[in-house]
Amino acid sequence: MTAGRLTAMDILRHLDRSNCRECDVPTCMAFAALVIQGQKALADCPRLAPEIVEKLSGTVTAVVRTGEDLRSEMTEQIRAQVAGIDYPGAAERISASMNGDRLSIRCLGKPFELDPDGALHSECHVNSWVHLPLLNYVTTCQGRAPSGEWVTFDELSNARDWVRFFSHRCENAMKKIADRDPDLFIDSLDLFSGAHVEKRPADRFSTADDAIVLKPLPLVPLMIAYWRPEDGFESTLTLFFDRTAEVNLGAEAIYMLTTGLVEMFKKIMVKHGRKPG
Ligand code: SF4
Repeated sequence: MTAGRLTAMDILRHLDRSNCRECDVPTCMAFAALVIQGQKALADCPRLAPEIVEKLSGTVTAVVRTGEDLRSEMTEQIRAQVAGIDYPGAAERISASMNGDRLSIRCLGKPFELDPDGALHSECHVNSWVHLPLLNYVTTCQGRAPSGEWVTFDELSNARDWVRFFSHRCENAMKKIADRDPDLFIDSLDLFSGAHVEKRPADRFSTADDAIVLKPLPLVPLMIAYWRPEDGFESTLTLFFDRTAEVNLGAEAIYMLTTGLVEMFKKIMVKHGRKPG
């Protein structure tokens, strides 16, 4: 390992991966990323042996890597796992299909295909926030059919560590985008094959002005419920997931996937001459 080549994965290898949060970060992986970005010091992990801190410290300060770098590294790792999977068997489990020797997965109504080496092909722009959860879906999805029970992110099991991040980077960010131009925002969901939900009085989102379901992955539907600003009252935007999302994807990947959606929505707003929020 030499200066200039240290990565978050190099740091992660030395951590005990208990995700104990004694460093005030939800996971060891997130801690490693923050060290690389210079926002945390190795010594902030009380479980890291002093001799390792000393050994790595000089190298870390020589390198500045971004969250994008980290996602690329993680993507390469999962890609290697995906390449070893029996695609026809996986297709049935994750509600995908085969196109020749490629695994074809519908993401927001568009096909995304994995070749036998695990590389991803799509006519759409693939940002790393979406690429990684899609690979995660292939490796971890349990294939549970959606139950029809809509829950908020914090009600999903194992979501606790990600709630603060999700609230800030997903729900609040999407609300800001929607508030810039509510009609344009709702109309743009058509581009992603969004379907308006028929609301029943007992539904938690029954009073929402708009309730639209997207399918970022075949077995992981997401509902955007939006109460528009009115008469001096602020808007509200809540994201709901089917209860089965917790076994079909997992909280961290859901967080990444939703962040990817927010980035796509921002681009659309900018394309239409609106400030992204
Ligand atoms: S304190 Fe260390 S072991 Fe615990 S979560 Fe942070 S990095 Fe991981």
